[in-house]
Amino acid sequence: MPSPSSHAPEIDRSQPAVVVEDLHRSFGALKAVDGVSFTIDHGRVVGFVGANGAGKTTTMRIMATLDSPGAGRVCMGGHNVVHHPAKVRRLLGWMPDAFGTYEHMSVLEYMDFYARALGFKGDERLRRIQEVMDFTDLTPLADRMSNKMSKGQTQRLCLGRALLHDPQILILDEPAAGLDPKARVELKNLIRILAQEGKTILISSHILSELGEMCDSLLFIDNGRIVHHGDAQSMLRGTETAGETLVNVQIAGNPAKLLEWALTAPLVKVEDETKRGARLRIQAADDDTLAGVLRRMIQDGLPVLDFHREERRLEDAFIDMLGQIDRGRRSEPPPLPGQNDE
Ligand code: ATP
Repeated sequence: MPSPSSHAPEIDRSQPAVVVEDLHRSFGALKAVDGVSFTIDHGRVVGFVGANGAGKTTTMRIMATLDSPGAGRVCMGGHNVVHHPAKVRRLLGWMPDAFGTYEHMSVLEYMDFYARALGFKGDERLRRIQEVMDFTDLTPLADRMSNKMSKGQTQRLCLGRALLHDPQILILDEPAAGLDPKARVELKNLIRILAQEGKTILISSHILSELGEMCDSLLFIDNGRIVHHGDAQSMLRGTETAGETLVNVQIAGNPAKLLEWALTAPLVKVEDETKRGARLRIQAADDDTLAGVLRRMIQDGLPVLDFHREERRLEDAFIDMLGQIDRGRRSEPPPLPGQNDE
């Protein structure tokens, strides 16, 4: 019977937990991953963000040894995914965006099947299954048919399966997709505990606000290229329009009064109308000027109920960043004749 240590992954801690270097992968003429590079240190939680088709799943599948790089180098826990896929698999937990369950197999049987496949035997197997089922709150569902569960329960089963061999690195592809708010909070709590245990986690999602809360840093991919790697705050700062502030203003009575006032007020433009006022773009970022705008509103007789600086949302910052990249691409001079010839 293998001892628990025989399942323990071997990790080279002298290197980052994840190294992806100039990774390329094409499908025919389509460059799905086009020179992606990043590293993730041990114990960090990194969000992987990008529009549909940006290249997230392709990158993650290569990291999980399920696909091969066209070019470039990927090392997980110090092991190259091409040269040592078996070692990588032992230290990696992979949760795909879509996964199958089996008919006529209960949750317990499902976990048992995978624990046996991983080489767990006897008491150790039973103990490990119980630990993981308790952690993912699957124990009350032990006899439930695995294909007759809600989306949230199914995601917990998928996570449980990925955790059986106690992997040090987790790759979670859209684990929160399709979950209701309660199931999302439950999943987020599980991920938080795994992070506290020191696991390295790469998690893709479209729900940026949640990733911002959960992750140490965010990795943004667009058209197969990494366009930003940093924490949520640097992302928000990086796309701010210098010297401008968005302010949400509500007034008592007819909001048209505010819109009329904004037409002639210096430094102020209406960004959009709201039910009780407007979002105003003010050509200033310093406190004194903003306070001056509020003072003037009141002096001009506007019945201001609320005046607050808007926190930028990650979604807006992401869309602005893509816009900046797109404008940059369009302003690049066209290649000279023969410049792109091989
Ligand atoms: P989503 O958020 O929609 O899951 P994604 O960022 O994960 O998107 P990928 O699944 O990596 O994107 O796909 C990147 C591009 O590669 C897409 O244009 C996709 O159509 C294409 N692609 C992915 N896998 C294959 C394949 N096996 N054969 C052909 N094209 C593929």
